[in-house]
Amino acid sequence: MAWFHRPKYTIIRKVQKTDTKIPEGMWVKCDSCSGILLKKELDDNLNVCPKCGFHNRINAKKRIEITLDSNSFVEMWPDIFSVDFLNFPQYKEKLEKSMKSTGLSEAVIVGTGKINGMDVAIGVTDFNFMGGSLGSVMGEKIIRIIEHAYKENLPLIIISASGGGARMHEGIISLMQMAKISAGLSKIYDKKLPYISVLTDPTGGGVTASFAMLGDVNIAEPGALIMFAGPRVIEQTIKQKLPPGFQRSEFLLEHGMIDMIVERKNLKNTIFSLLSKFTANLKK
Ligand SMILES: [Zn+2]
Repeated sequence: MAWFHRPKYTIIRKVQKTDTKIPEGMWVKCDSCSGILLKKELDDNLNVCPKCGFHNRINAKKRIEITLDSNSFVEMWPDIFSVDFLNFPQYKEKLEKSMKSTGLSEAVIVGTGKINGMDVAIGVTDFNFMGGSLGSVMGEKIIRIIEHAYKENLPLIIISASGGGARMHEGIISLMQMAKISAGLSKIYDKKLPYISVLTDPTGGGVTASFAMLGDVNIAEPGALIMFAGPRVIEQTIKQKLPPGFQRSEFLLEHGMIDMIVERKNLKNTIFSLLSKFTANLKK
């Protein structure tokens, strides 16, 4: 899965100038347009290249920070941890490594917060934690936030960065989460509570095949890889080269798989505007 792990920008460690005041790692090179940028410039622009508009990946914590009103997020059930119930080789080690590198307990964070003052329930998956893959704990946290939204009449937002799809280390139990979450979402629909799904680079497998595609509105960020099976698997199976841009947001919009593509800087206000329309109808 090499394309998943390829960084979209390269940190420039050695500056080829005599100016020794430039600290190491201050500059980055955009892998999309080859532009040289100040790391701070990229950070300030929500990790989107200011030269070519390439949307680099961001982690779940940052995603919450830029989506919700500041200090409004209250995390729920942070202390549920995955266990290696199948004795799958190296699963325990991978979990520990992901926890250490991300500071998260699982590949999803759920909770409540506000968007422009509106109360919402939210879940955000993180690609840095085992590919953002869906296992029993992610399934449990997502179903709990769905049930919380149902109970409290809150609009629901799930932002996915889950290129790993269903977590193979948990076998059929991970696949079961797809059905469990989909059934939970049907309750949300019955109550006519809005559910917005945001698909970011990369979203795949069992996540694409369940909650990520079940929003009342499915929004993607520009250029995101959104798939069921990955492009390499498809190419190997059908023994044909895939067309350029296949499985990217723009291709999927053109083919009716998603509803809209929204730039990161406009996401918060777009979500708010959609939710305002949905909830206005509810109140009538
Ligand atoms: Zn660029």
